[in-house]
Amino acid sequence: MGQQKVKRRSTAEFIRNYPACCLCGERPTATREHMPPKALFENKHRPDKLVMPACGECNRGTSTSDLVVSLISRWGFEQTPYGPADHAKLVSQIRIQAPDVLLEWETAFTPDMQRRGQLHLKRQGVDLPRGTPVVTIGPLTVRHLNVFSHKVALALYFEHFKRPLSNNGRVQAFWRSKEDFHHGVPLDLINLMGKYNKLVQGRWDTGKTFEYKFDTNVNEGLFGCFVRFRQGFYVLGFAVENKDTLSNNDELEDGGWIAPRDLLGPNPHFAKRLI
Ligand SMILES: [Zn+2]
Repeated sequence: MGQQKVKRRSTAEFIRNYPACCLCGERPTATREHMPPKALFENKHRPDKLVMPACGECNRGTSTSDLVVSLISRWGFEQTPYGPADHAKLVSQIRIQAPDVLLEWETAFTPDMQRRGQLHLKRQGVDLPRGTPVVTIGPLTVRHLNVFSHKVALALYFEHFKRPLSNNGRVQAFWRSKEDFHHGVPLDLINLMGKYNKLVQGRWDTGKTFEYKFDTNVNEGLFGCFVRFRQGFYVLGFAVENKDTLSNNDELEDGGWIAPRDLLGPNPHFAKRLI
């Protein structure tokens, strides 16, 4: 049997096993969604695990957000064999798919904006080597980072419960950059969750690119995760299986929770970084 035929057959079986999208929780599965996305990895090469069911709309609707994070999480000082080639490929892909995002980044590409950006980071205690380029992370990029963060929480919820979060549930997520954690990742965040996972296949360990802590509270129907993408992007995500849990618990009820089906909705609060 040809490789394409095998692939089609296994996708069909996957759809039969998981008929509902793990992101919106309601539309029918049409595709295998990789979380983390392939583009995060060197030469787009990753073990074939952490693969979730998604509908076409969620798959297409979050693909630019995947690209944005795959790029942003690469911005650092560490060079890897495929680093420059992968970066160039991702930039040309985003130029075609979401030119407005690239334009937003490039508004910082004047000498004056570069100087001001560097100064701003320096005041916050981030020490950049001389000449490190600075980009603008504006509302378009922030929205993509927020969509991605919520997607991460929904996808990992699926991974650990083997069912999508229903629309009676709610999800909430926050992201942080390497600039936020330039003094190191806070220990209370690392220790918040007790369990650990990463993407491994045999001896192939991608823990350097992606790893996470997580916890599940079956009694209260709670899920939490703290995820690292490369050296530059972190997500803290939570899901509750029943939205009533939120109104009965002052600690959890602080707004910002969305239903899975609203992942791609207007979500006005996605225009800003959630804190
Ligand atoms: Zn969907």
